[in-house]
Amino acid sequence: MKEITIAIDGYAGCGKSSTAQAVAACLGYIYIDSGAMYRAVTLYLLRAGIDYAEETPALLSAVAGLEIDFVRPEGSARPLTRLNGEIVEEAIRTPEVSAAVSPVARHGGIRRKVVAQQQEMGRRGGVVMDGRDIGTVVFPEAELKVFMQADMAVRAERRRAELLGRGIDEPLEAVMHNLAERDHIDSTRAVSPLRQAADAVVVDTTHLSFDQQVEEVCKLARRRIAAQASAS
Ligand code: C5P
Repeated sequence: MKEITIAIDGYAGCGKSSTAQAVAACLGYIYIDSGAMYRAVTLYLLRAGIDYAEETPALLSAVAGLEIDFVRPEGSARPLTRLNGEIVEEAIRTPEVSAAVSPVARHGGIRRKVVAQQQEMGRRGGVVMDGRDIGTVVFPEAELKVFMQADMAVRAERRRAELLGRGIDEPLEAVMHNLAERDHIDSTRAVSPLRQAADAVVVDTTHLSFDQQVEEVCKLARRRIAAQASAS
């Protein structure tokens, strides 16, 4: 049966990544966290002390040779992000990286490099990729596009709980500020702004449990896979 491409976009902290990962596991597809790739670029720039305010030739040449990929440990559904061979899964999820990632991801030259790699990774289908521009730019032909949303208060509570689970005690106000700031930058940037694709299905997770949101997307996916099969 043909494996489809599933694009999940939406605002920060709606549960896109965890949902996409569970949907991929239930379909036997590959999960790709596109945001992790922008986070890895950002971590590199922060560590190297490189100014990312403007898209300069020096900035683009600093990121040109970066190698970003994912390792998938046996028996674990969660892929780990690698930057130049180093596993950086924890390091890319700190408040410092969260504060810098949207200003970095605004730059067209950085996006071109990351998008080209994402398109190559998903070339054969059978992928669930989450991000901001997956249904609009990376895979405009995706068979299923989901646009996830949730109320800010719920998103901030969930993100704070997730950070606490990793030992980071960030005040709720600060979490909310970061989500709102990133949404603003991501939606208003000149290159590939966060937009709901015209043919995306909206899934509002405000009142859904995690299992319910996964089931909702899996149900949509199964329908698209069946429709593909009967059309071919
Ligand atoms: O998905 P996550 O929230 O980890 O993404 C971090 C940031 O990376 C986003 O706020 C956005 O600035 C950027 N991003 C993007 N395009 C994507 C995925 C993420 O610009 N496809």
